[in-house]
Amino acid sequence: MSALRIVRTLSELREITRAWKMAGEVIGVVPTMGALHDGHLSLVHRAKEECARIIVTIFVNPKQFNNPDDLKNYPRTEVEDAAKLAPLGVDVVYVPDGEQMYPNGFCTNISLSGLTDVLCGAHRAGHFDGVATVVTKLFTQTSADRAFFGEKDFQQLQIVTRLSLDLDLGVTVVGCPTIREEDGLAMSSRNLLLSDRTRVWAPRLIEEMEKLAATMRAGGDYEAAHAEALAALKTAGFTEVDYFEMRAVDDLSLVTDVKRPARLFAAAWLGGVRLIDNIAV
Ligand code: AMP
Repeated sequence: MSALRIVRTLSELREITRAWKMAGEVIGVVPTMGALHDGHLSLVHRAKEECARIIVTIFVNPKQFNNPDDLKNYPRTEVEDAAKLAPLGVDVVYVPDGEQMYPNGFCTNISLSGLTDVLCGAHRAGHFDGVATVVTKLFTQTSADRAFFGEKDFQQLQIVTRLSLDLDLGVTVVGCPTIREEDGLAMSSRNLLLSDRTRVWAPRLIEEMEKLAATMRAGGDYEAAHAEALAALKTAGFTEVDYFEMRAVDDLSLVTDVKRPARLFAAAWLGGVRLIDNIAV
């Protein structure tokens, strides 16, 4: 197994990937914003199964934050992250700084329509433009053949899949299942920002989602179960619910029955932390 290399410049990265390409090796990329947990590591394991070379990128992308405090408070744990990746057979951790990614004069924006108008797109102005722009750059910078994304951010997964097809980026996007804590809470770097108290309350989100999904599978009434779930979340300490909606998997349009494959999507605030989750119905 080769040693983990931390690469901070595009020129060094290109030198490495050029040799891999010449040798005909399949390159997998796992884009992250760091503060790595087992959810991220599951993407790396999947990438290892399918690719000869693995690049994990760590970049807290300012363009995808619509709130300056969120960007400032986002956890940054590079030393611990590298220690977690070293035993997994990752070849390169690419950690560009802002200047590498968005040099002076940078003025290109990648924007999708439709898929980006709902859910997180409706609540976080410019968020998915920021994601699409950085992912396009990361795909081209890493020369990746395959890219691994979590279903935890299902809308993002749909958007990135579409983006790669639309722009002929030549990267196959692979979706991987959401990894959860023992109590059901979806693993997330933002969970580090929860207090001891709110961490105890946080699994109520997935509990209410599972309850609504079970009602739908049993042929129950969506409106009534939905209203009940919202009330339960308020009681559980969630201050605001950005969305708690059932949508069709293919085009993310709103649905109230399960005639088409559907997922339940939620984003809610707990103790100043925005938690998101989604499950198949
Ligand atoms: P982030 O660092 O939050 O931008 O996430 C980087 C990648 O890890 C994205 O593709 C996420 O969807 C994925 N991810 C985050 N949390 C989880 C999780 N709990 N299970 C699986 N994948 C995840």
